[in-house]
Amino acid sequence: MGMPPRRVYLDNNATTPVLPEVFEAMRPYFTEHFGNASSIHTHGQETRAAVESARESVAALLGCRAAEIIFTSGGTEADNLAIVGLTKPGDHVITSSIEHHAVLHTCKHLEAIGREVTIVPVDGRGQVDPADVQRALRPTTRLISIMMANNETGVLQAVEEIGKIAADAGVCFHTDAVQAAGKVAIDVNQIGCHALSISGHKFHAPQGVGALYLRKGTHLDPLFYGGSHERSRRAGTENVPGIVGLGKASQLAKDAFDRGDDKKMSALRDRLEQGILAQVEDAVVNGESEKNNRVARVPNTTNIRFEHIEGESLVIALDLKGLAVSAGAACSSGATEGSHVLLAMGLRADQVRSSIRFSLGKQTTDEDIDFALALVSETVARMRELSPSYRKEAISS
Ligand code: PLP
Repeated sequence: MGMPPRRVYLDNNATTPVLPEVFEAMRPYFTEHFGNASSIHTHGQETRAAVESARESVAALLGCRAAEIIFTSGGTEADNLAIVGLTKPGDHVITSSIEHHAVLHTCKHLEAIGREVTIVPVDGRGQVDPADVQRALRPTTRLISIMMANNETGVLQAVEEIGKIAADAGVCFHTDAVQAAGKVAIDVNQIGCHALSISGHKFHAPQGVGALYLRKGTHLDPLFYGGSHERSRRAGTENVPGIVGLGKASQLAKDAFDRGDDKKMSALRDRLEQGILAQVEDAVVNGESEKNNRVARVPNTTNIRFEHIEGESLVIALDLKGLAVSAGAACSSGATEGSHVLLAMGLRADQVRSSIRFSLGKQTTDEDIDFALALVSETVARMRELSPSYRKEAISS
């Protein structure tokens, strides 16, 4: 019996593996500590204490008070809760063209329930111009929802500037920080946001748990009606093991920033990116094509287009050889229209289709990067050899 074939996972923006320490922290809450956190007996008190301790850890990661954290079933629910819960019929909402569908489709729903929505564009690097947000303000504007980091490109938005615009205009600011949490430091007071969404499974906690930060004193209508959990802002018995996992992952993320692990992560990402650009012809980093006009990104993501390659075919070819990457976001790959994010950045449809996202995680090693580099250059070269359109262009140019 030989060794199992090597597998390298570079699709951490889709989801991350639960860290062993996170799993160990959760384990007792599936078995001996099973109480309902609302029960007054000892079983309930044990799980209540665990939920409140997790709330402290999440609050410490975001720089807020524990009472400002609402646990949810994930990023999608946190986004829905903020966007629907902070607005009323007649209100105007400003968002951007590159938001996750958890925001964009919620905003589409808002239009059906009597709110008005303005979608601001992005530039070729995938950034929203805060001046566009300023210009979109109306007397009826109630909410601005602009993401902190984009899931496909990793590009960071000027959230502090947008926070100031919101504060000056006296409107609420929500930011989807699902792809920022655990990757860059977050301080809700520095951002100046009223609401901020995070999701556990994007930073090594399990799937199906997340949180919404809601600034003290901000009125929010709930999405769910039921018991008075989460101070009546989110009814439903708490997912105790998931919440404990989110708390542990938040703690580990905070410790990792203190150790400077984010710098190590960006060094690994840069080695992958620079290596691909050096070894593969006609490879371009999406959002970085304007030389010397770099834009800030989270440390784990690079989105590269390989001209004349069908991205989905490359993903399948790499997967067969043991490398997991993605063509577009996990939830929209397979859709024929292609990434709305890359299209919004002005890429042509064929460029969108030739784009691949590589996203690293805490478990990614130097050897993983070596493996990915060798495999990507060899696979792209082989696919291009077989591509009549690439050969024709190569001969004619
Ligand atoms: N927002 C962003 C930017 C995301 O990348 C995702 C997940 O892909 C979500 C929201 C949704 O989070 P969840 O999967 O926890 O519902």
